[in-house]
Amino acid sequence: MWYFSSPQIAFGEDALSRLDELKGRQAFIVTDANVARLGLVRRVQERLDNVGIPSAVFAEVEPDPSLQTVRRCAAAMAEQNPDWVIGLGGGSCIDAAKAAWLLYERPDIDPAGINPFDFFGVRAKARLIAIPTTSGTGSEATWAVVLTDTAEQRKLALGARELLPDIAIVDPAFTLSLPPALTADTGLDALTHAVEGYTSTWRNDFSDGLCLKAIQLVLTYLPRAFANGGDTEAREHLHNAAAIAGLGFGNSMTALAHDMGHALGALFHTPHGRAVSLCLPYTIEFTAHGGGSRYYEIARFLHLPARDEAEGAASLAAAIRDLRRTLNEPATIRDLGVTPAAFAETLPHLITNAELDTDIVTSPRQPDRDQLQRLFEYTYEGKRVDF
Ligand SMILES: [Zn+2]
Repeated sequence: MWYFSSPQIAFGEDALSRLDELKGRQAFIVTDANVARLGLVRRVQERLDNVGIPSAVFAEVEPDPSLQTVRRCAAAMAEQNPDWVIGLGGGSCIDAAKAAWLLYERPDIDPAGINPFDFFGVRAKARLIAIPTTSGTGSEATWAVVLTDTAEQRKLALGARELLPDIAIVDPAFTLSLPPALTADTGLDALTHAVEGYTSTWRNDFSDGLCLKAIQLVLTYLPRAFANGGDTEAREHLHNAAAIAGLGFGNSMTALAHDMGHALGALFHTPHGRAVSLCLPYTIEFTAHGGGSRYYEIARFLHLPARDEAEGAASLAAAIRDLRRTLNEPATIRDLGVTPAAFAETLPHLITNAELDTDIVTSPRQPDRDQLQRLFEYTYEGKRVDF
């Protein structure tokens, strides 16, 4: 037996007015300093004021939130005793809100112990609303949580089904002030979710269509939103695409590009979407080489050359590399500014991190330690290696 999970999703112009229907006694907003500075927290609070729900704000979430931040946030939450928790911001803010919410409900749990197999009994105290301000992680539509263990320099891909938000508010107005580089990084994350959600070993009939549609939307609208941040049509479709990709991979899984990207991000502090999408074409080539991939189905859906699987996979990898070039994204790990010496020194750590990451389990072709090393080396310089 399998499940398809989705929050209630309010989307499109003025989706924020979903808050006008809210009933409750106290809200707690989890966000970061930048979102607060842009006046987006104020916009949410005004809506809550209108329906008589007082709100408190924790605006201290950092990019790649740590276990420590989540613990502090949960303590602040407990003082306010909210019945609504609102994650407002990029994936970091929404993930921190999910984890802090669980700790608020269950103070006996350690955030590193969040896992999909236990039942935690959340919602005894509060429910969760997610309002994304980037079009990328899809965290508003998934139960995934990514935290960073700063002591071990490792990303923890956690999650529990109960942490799926009750309501996702996908309002494109919240993304209009996103700068081009951030638009590119986050949009490429959504693309990677959709490609990996379609090809992971946990893919299924319910997630397939969502993933294909999200891929098409990102390829069509990301270049436009990047070139002109005020293109409201592109912003709206891109924002929808991120949530749709979230529903897709959230109900299947991601795979090797996320596995390697998590390892890269934890060691070189590369933004998540940049790291995973950098790895994506390389992992497509590696996976297709093993046979039995579904990349040609994606390529055919996109009307790319795809007479057979090998050509389809090559076309898809090329289309992703073209897109990344258009968006001024680095093509290799070396382009990230990692020197050969720094790369050689961290390579064993990268490989170990990638081996420990849970996304390797759902990769359609799972590399062994040796193959991981060659994959990282290939991704470092783009010099083709033998898989
Ligand atoms: Zn991602």
